[in-house]
Amino acid sequence: MRNKDNVDLICDIAELAGLFERSSSLTDFLDTATSIIAWHMKAAVCSIYLFDEETQELVLRATQGLDASAVGQVRLKLGEGITGLALRELRPICEGRGSGNPNFKYIPNIQEEQYEAFLAVPILRGLDRIGVLVAQDPEPNYFDQNDVKALRAIAGQLATTIENANLLMSMHATVAEPVQRPAPTLPRFLRGKAISEGISMGKASVIGTIDEEALRVFEEDPTPRTLDDFQRALKETEDQLTALQRELEEELSDVASLIFSAHLLILKDAQFSGAVVHEIEAGVPPPKAVASIIHKYIDLFDNSKNPRLREKVLDVKDLGHRLLLNLMSHNAQQADYEGRIIVAHELLPSELLKLAAQRAAGLVLLSGSTTAHISILARSLQLPTLLVDDQELMVLAEDRFLLIDAMQGTLFIDPDKDVRASYVVLIEEQKRIQQREPNVDPRTQTADGVRVRLYANINLLSDLTHALRLKAEGIGLYRSEFPFIVRDNFPSEEEQMRIYRRLVESMQDRMITLRTLDIGGDKSLSYAPIPQEANPFLGLRAIRFSLRNRPIFAQQLRAMLRAGHGHNLRIMFPLISSLDDFMHARDVVRECMEQLEQEGTPHNARPELGLMVELPSAIEMIDELAQEADFISIGTNDLIQYLLAVDRTNEQISDLYVPYHPAVLRALNKTIDASVRAGIDVSVCGDAATNPHMIVFFLGCGLRTFSVDARHIPRIQQVIKQTHLEEARKQALQVLRFSRVAEIEAFFAASPIAE
Ligand code: PEP
Ligand code: MG
Repeated sequence: MRNKDNVDLICDIAELAGLFERSSSLTDFLDTATSIIAWHMKAAVCSIYLFDEETQELVLRATQGLDASAVGQVRLKLGEGITGLALRELRPICEGRGSGNPNFKYIPNIQEEQYEAFLAVPILRGLDRIGVLVAQDPEPNYFDQNDVKALRAIAGQLATTIENANLLMSMHATVAEPVQRPAPTLPRFLRGKAISEGISMGKASVIGTIDEEALRVFEEDPTPRTLDDFQRALKETEDQLTALQRELEEELSDVASLIFSAHLLILKDAQFSGAVVHEIEAGVPPPKAVASIIHKYIDLFDNSKNPRLREKVLDVKDLGHRLLLNLMSHNAQQADYEGRIIVAHELLPSELLKLAAQRAAGLVLLSGSTTAHISILARSLQLPTLLVDDQELMVLAEDRFLLIDAMQGTLFIDPDKDVRASYVVLIEEQKRIQQREPNVDPRTQTADGVRVRLYANINLLSDLTHALRLKAEGIGLYRSEFPFIVRDNFPSEEEQMRIYRRLVESMQDRMITLRTLDIGGDKSLSYAPIPQEANPFLGLRAIRFSLRNRPIFAQQLRAMLRAGHGHNLRIMFPLISSLDDFMHARDVVRECMEQLEQEGTPHNARPELGLMVELPSAIEMIDELAQEADFISIGTNDLIQYLLAVDRTNEQISDLYVPYHPAVLRALNKTIDASVRAGIDVSVCGDAATNPHMIVFFLGCGLRTFSVDARHIPRIQQVIKQTHLEEARKQALQVLRFSRVAEIEAFFAASPIAE
């Protein structure tokens, strides 16, 4: 048997990203991909078939080993041949002797007859059919289960790039009118709400409007530029984006996957560069030619019916800006958002990550709220963020100087020298405080010596540094959806496993709680099979999505179980609304464990299985749920919104979002009481756990585990250390008797807590 290469080599994202960067077109990419895969697997043949939605046929698009003239000619119906069958049934097919399979189809003139071993793996984006990756070899039984795993991992990676390229090809169409911008009239400062603490200052970059003014400046450039200048700018832009992608992969490995792929695809798209070249050759000055083609693309993407294309508008704008700066021989750094204060109506998590990767200094959002997921992400990225409800900001000219005070909640516009100088002192002071060794004990207990556990909530792997520095005793909530949100496709089992393993290994023997996918609501996946919903928060969210999409759910659970091998592992299901939900989810975990056992794959065979209490129905069923679950965690962010029917992302009604509403307090007490009686661990992992009065209330109700953003740990530990349990119990009983919010507020005001 020939020695096949370590499969990790080809599973690695970096290799595929690098391969894509080096290719000049999709065809070139597919050709290189097939030859690299064939080489690594020491297989005689590797081919890629792509699925044509319109004709419902698979078309051979690239091959290493078969007759090259067959490319574009060989077509298979869904279900036809082993290849067509793999795609119809959405499963890999591995045959020791392909010709023995009743579905085998002999295709004349491609010299296929000499190859006996046959391995076909579908390329899928979610459950959408993209194509099939096929490997063949003359040696019967040449492929084994490791090869199936390796090809599945590669197929997952290929899907993203192929899909992006297909989208790009499908959108060469009509042009809309450009947007007109009124002149800005803004006061010197505006009040806002701090949603991610910090202070920062810099020039403004407005996201979401087409920057006509900046493009006009370029168009009026007096220096004559040539076609060569454009070609040079194209190359420089590609090099910069490739370097940015690499940096991002080092710093934010869990969420970095091919984040600049749309930029690179447009750059490599022959239609894009061809259109610019055509205009330049017709006598249009190069900057003007670039600006006009970029505008066309922005309009096309913006007006597309496809939500995945609309999501890419910022990428196109970004690319245009960068290309123009390079064309005018400006410093490349200017093309980044480095040091910029971003102003946006709203942002997608992937957009926020791109901006953070380019070292934006701060963020001003016009809509959102503290518990919206974009705010949670901004806090993880330590990006000072203010919420300012003033539409005029969107027409603020680029380059106005902004100062964000996301401690007090103030936005300064073109502040004078004195204001700036005093804030420079404050920023320095803040840096010093952050660098100080934190004053935090490894164990937490109340004033009367009762042990309390403080866990960390983790959104990005980069949060781990704070969790370890601030001595978190474990992870009480890992929000596993962020790596899904920023990608263009579901991450493969291997990719997920690598991320979870980083968490598990860095926490060593401490408890890890991995929450399964919580998408839907304000966390959409443009590639996921979720139809347009009128009420996404009441739609196919969290565990509902997972239970409807078993293969995706099982893939995540397998990755979690594998990563948790030899460690303390808890798996937690979000948005459980019934005992049935919990039991169905638990059944899938058990099936995955059986499968892993049969395969002989090392995994955690005794994970604790728990659920989040976030819905009124779960409160009603709490006794039964507490009997079945190994642990419970209360997600107050959602519980409050669903109990009070107040959208957690709607700042207009944030005064109605009251964590200490009597109905909320009673529901919390009921949940804690039922869990304590059932003898299972109960924790709270929503933001209410950071409010000192609520901490005392939770302790008084019997709660002994908190999970919070690690940066709050020192403050929360202080509150707990000063709390006498008997006193907390009395206070909780007292508060639970009130029926009005005003009475509770008055009670809290009369019992100040020193932090
Ligand atoms: C919650 O709802 O309180 C919670 C912790 O989950 P998320 O904020 O991710 O919805
Ligand atoms: Mg929640």
